[in-house]
Amino acid sequence: MRKYRLLVLLCAGLPALAWGPEGHDLVARIAEAQLTAEARARVAEILGLGSTMASVSSWPDQIRRSRPETGPWHYVDIPIDKPGLDMARDCPNGNCVIAAIAAMRAKLRDPATAADQRREALMFVIHFVGDMHQPLHSSNHGDRGGNEVHIVFHGQPGNLHGLWDGGLLARMGKEDDLFARLSAASARRRKKFAKGSVSDWAEQAHKLAQQMVYGRLPNAAPGAPLTIGADYERRADAVIELQIERAGARLAAVLNQDLQ
Ligand SMILES: [Zn+2]
Repeated sequence: MRKYRLLVLLCAGLPALAWGPEGHDLVARIAEAQLTAEARARVAEILGLGSTMASVSSWPDQIRRSRPETGPWHYVDIPIDKPGLDMARDCPNGNCVIAAIAAMRAKLRDPATAADQRREALMFVIHFVGDMHQPLHSSNHGDRGGNEVHIVFHGQPGNLHGLWDGGLLARMGKEDDLFARLSAASARRRKKFAKGSVSDWAEQAHKLAQQMVYGRLPNAAPGAPLTIGADYERRADAVIELQIERAGARLAAVLNQDLQ
């Protein structure tokens, strides 16, 4: 069912697929600031001249149409009415963001990996650690990741997925100001954030989808769009900030570990 998401989004002319470029950019920049000197040098060497973690952070979204097998790697479908992750149920055939991160990290660490494959693996890891922190990418409510939930936000029609990908972020101020604030907050709590496994991080995002993304949705008449009000926006902004801070610290921890 998810494969229709791209088509619908393209038809609607909306930016597609998990954090928009701004979210991925922020996660990459926050992580880069927390790299060890060793990991930083390795990242520069792997990416090559002219590329930064931020500049490649949305690449997997750009190649998604030409490489459809990569589509399921951007999310994990933990049902919204289930308490947590069940890999057999939610990650069939190892086709989900949790398994994709593990596979790409293994490629990154393997000395036998060819240079172009290592570069791809690094770009996938940078992107996927970001993606899984968008709560709608670690949950499934049978609504194509929120694309079928019609909303009105500050007078503009849209859908829940687009709201969480970039609609909320777009109103949170200039990216450089956000970066300065979130990067400092992320660095302060980096040790705490880096605890746990990738699966734990997905379950944490799933809980936020239950409690916040869906749990605090306003009511509307059947068939009518949901009006996203100031209270939802304020709480959602706080969740987005926290998730970007966490994603940055965790991406740095992953790369510091894998690129010693
Ligand atoms: Zn993505």
